Amino acid sequence: MDNNNNKMVGTGFNRFTTCSALFAMAFSLLLIITLLMYQNSTFYLSDSEGFSKDILGRRRPHNLSTNASDINGTSSESRVWQENLNITATKDIAYQNLTESDEGLNSSCSRFTNDSISPVKNVTERLYDGLQASGFDEASCISRFQSHLYRKASPHKPSSYLISKLRNYEKIHRKCGPWTRYYNRTMKKLLRSKKNSEDTTCKYLVWTPANGLGNRIISMAASFVYAVLTDRVLLVKFENDMMGLFCEPFLNSTWVFSKDSPFWNPKHVETYENMLAKNSSPSVLYLNLQHTRDDPEKFFHCDHNQKLVQKVPLLILQTDQYFVPSLSMIPSFNLEIAQMFPERDTVFHHVGNYLFHPSNEAWGQISRFYDAYLAKADEKIGLQIRLFTPDSTPHEAVMDLLLSCTLQHKLLPELDKKNSAASTSTHEDPSLKVVLVASLFPEFGEKLRIMYLTEPTITGEVVGVHQPSHEGSQKFHNNLHNMKAWTDMYLLSLCDVLVTTSLSTFGYVAQGLGGLKPWLLHRLVGNRTLHPNPPCQRDFSMEPCYHIPPKHNCEGKAIKDFSSSFPYMRSCLDYSSGVKLVNVSV
Ligand code: GDP
Repeated sequence: MDNNNNKMVGTGFNRFTTCSALFAMAFSLLLIITLLMYQNSTFYLSDSEGFSKDILGRRRPHNLSTNASDINGTSSESRVWQENLNITATKDIAYQNLTESDEGLNSSCSRFTNDSISPVKNVTERLYDGLQASGFDEASCISRFQSHLYRKASPHKPSSYLISKLRNYEKIHRKCGPWTRYYNRTMKKLLRSKKNSEDTTCKYLVWTPANGLGNRIISMAASFVYAVLTDRVLLVKFENDMMGLFCEPFLNSTWVFSKDSPFWNPKHVETYENMLAKNSSPSVLYLNLQHTRDDPEKFFHCDHNQKLVQKVPLLILQTDQYFVPSLSMIPSFNLEIAQMFPERDTVFHHVGNYLFHPSNEAWGQISRFYDAYLAKADEKIGLQIRLFTPDSTPHEAVMDLLLSCTLQHKLLPELDKKNSAASTSTHEDPSLKVVLVASLFPEFGEKLRIMYLTEPTITGEVVGVHQPSHEGSQKFHNNLHNMKAWTDMYLLSLCDVLVTTSLSTFGYVAQGLGGLKPWLLHRLVGNRTLHPNPPCQRDFSMEPCYHIPPKHNCEGKAIKDFSSSFPYMRSCLDYSSGVKLVNVSV
């Protein structure tokens, strides 16, 4: 028994050591695989100087991650920033070697380097018709790889010219983006000299937010188009409320403008208006293209002024507008835009789908909601109900408007009032319509839901109604609130049919991402007695409307009719002073 026991102990011990060795090997292997998987995600190890090192040993500041939890407590003192520049300038050579050669960068940073063994490359390229760069890591941005499972394939393919412009832009961004040698050098130069005497290799466009998330997304997209046209690096000034909503759009780089930059809140910056008055370009320029209707004409759409802006190394642009139409009014830009977007009304569709991938947190909420409520639908109808003056707009009037639009155009079925006891089981295979309601107010979704639960429909269709959130009011500086808004917009974009509210940029984002021409609900003025007829109209373009286009041409003459001077533009249906891009054949 003892012998046996010893044997058993011995065998057990041998087994234990073998298991331990196997476990240690498996653990090491797992660790290596995990590290490789995370090399393109936000995985950094702190060093003693307050910087982080990624898996390649590249040094980055802590706030490079766009996770909301990572962004607290960054200093905005330029002295600290200056020191950081000095540190990175001497120690970032390894990183610089990677960024200076794209070949080097790809082969060092991608999970797979060779086409024949590159599932990541093939998958991303296949999914987005070449719109996305290859080499992204799936774990850091799941939506980039999964959203095609949730969205119908777009009939609009990106042109090869657009694809080549994007690849070229990405090279510039990698070479000049935050914390590269070129970036550090340029920022140092700009700090030293206010005069624009030195030519810089890299030029920057810092997008600065204004208004709600819809306004921000469409204006970021327009800023990106402007950056591509002018070879600038687009950086976005994200406060905490914008962190963690989107994945990083550019491979192996960041677009987040550092809070540590002395140009985060610069004092005494030359304004665009001053620059025009002096007729000379400063090194840093502030340009305000926000929605202010009564401003004097900016003549931003004129060649001479663009030439002045073009010389400015650091352009700080504050905007809430989709100003792509005014870029199209500049002849040299227009040629490029025409080549990049042969279908003129696909600018936001392509640029939006290129730039805005929901972060893993946002994607979790979007995909779970979709799987739970939308996945089984035969048809998905998105209703976006935005009240600009909720206190003076009776909700019943809005509900009436919504119903007359959706019933008149057979987007939703009528109720079978005569046969209210009818059960759906009398229909062999009743089809399921799911209505996704996006609104700040819960009653719209709730009323529709009860309506279709209480009575059958004349078509026999079953109608399910779901509303992901009802925030009550627009909230500012609130990350969670923006996350819900982004989730709502994205879910709307996954629908087959959209009904949106006139003038709402929230709806513009959904229609653009989804490639949908929405039914536009007319604006209600006051109460139900002013009930407009028709209640809604089908839009002719999926592009966002530019609400404040120039009123004058470059000679100072009033522009009376956009479409006669610019055949690819039309007045917006929802706002006649605004313009939007259309296909020339429309
Ligand atoms: P716009 O004002 O309609 O052009 O759209 P914006 O998105 O620029 O601003 C409206 C803001 O109000 C949104 O960004 C949200 O913060 C909030 N909001 C308005 N409607 C909704 C909605 O249907 N769902 C959610 N979650 N938020 C909304």
